Amino acid sequence: CGIVGYIGQRDAYPIILKGLKRLEYRGYDSAGIALYDGEDIQLCKTKGKVADLEKKAEKEISRKGNLGIGHTRWATHGVPNDVNSHPHYSNSGDLVLIHNGIIENYDSLKQELLNRGYTFKSETDTEVLVNLIEDVQKKENVKLGKAVQIALNQVVGAYAIALFDKKKPDEIVVAKLGSPLAIGVGDDEFFVASDASPFIEFTNNAIYLEDEEMAVIRLGREVRVRKIKDDQLV
Ligand code: GLU
Repeated sequence: CGIVGYIGQRDAYPIILKGLKRLEYRGYDSAGIALYDGEDIQLCKTKGKVADLEKKAEKEISRKGNLGIGHTRWATHGVPNDVNSHPHYSNSGDLVLIHNGIIENYDSLKQELLNRGYTFKSETDTEVLVNLIEDVQKKENVKLGKAVQIALNQVVGAYAIALFDKKKPDEIVVAKLGSPLAIGVGDDEFFVASDASPFIEFTNNAIYLEDEEMAVIRLGREVRVRKIKDDQLV
């Protein structure tokens, strides 16, 4: 399973697709990608290989945009199929998230969200997390980074995550506990990946997140790495 992300001035699609191919050695059963095309999110996902994703994406989405996230899934919660593949949207459709790992307490979190009116398309633990983040964002009226931090403090499990909010397409938020996550820092561009292989040709400036760390990656600013458990504002 693997994670790739890009934000900058180049086309995100070829970078993410190539990156996913380089992470194939990690094993997976499905693949998917979400791009921000300047107006909306373009999402394409499928059970099968990255090559299958490529064929489907060529037919179904414009593949335009300078911001995007891509994922290879190794199913733990919900069978390998198109719907359970990542990325997953939040209910509003504003947030889109990819996740490697397991949310162990997803059942009780899901129950709470169902009680608050949230609905779920997939059987994954991941879709619970993206809606938990959205719920915190709305309830607490906080920025995305802070919402992720508050949500992750309610989560028991393991994760590497990357997400963005289409209302704020100048940033990607990432977090790590148990699964690997590296950030590549370029010139006015950033890369995110499970290891450095997807971005090694673009930059050798890499930040490897430690467990229980998260980062808000925003264009035009230095990467801010924080402890998930800190109270400090992200
Ligand atoms: N637990 C998540 C799922 O089953 C992520 C699996 C993975 O690590 O790829 O969808």
